[in-house]
Amino acid sequence: MYIVVVCYGCGRFLLAKSNQKTKGCPYCETRLKLIKTKKVAQVKTAQEASNYLRALKERTGKNT
Ligand SMILES: [Zn+2]
Repeated sequence: MYIVVVCYGCGRFLLAKSNQKTKGCPYCETRLKLIKTKKVAQVKTAQEASNYLRALKERTGKNT
């Protein structure tokens, strides 16, 4: 399982494995504790997750 979370450093969406405890943000390099992040989705495959991220970016239009 994969989860889509919001980085509390830069506010961007990123992907993590649901069994991970921490994740380095690829954008701002914050070391995120996943229990503290806002989880926006849970998906089964990395492919599904990347589709979801793309859809989110299209909806928001820009990086917020
Ligand atoms: Zn970040």
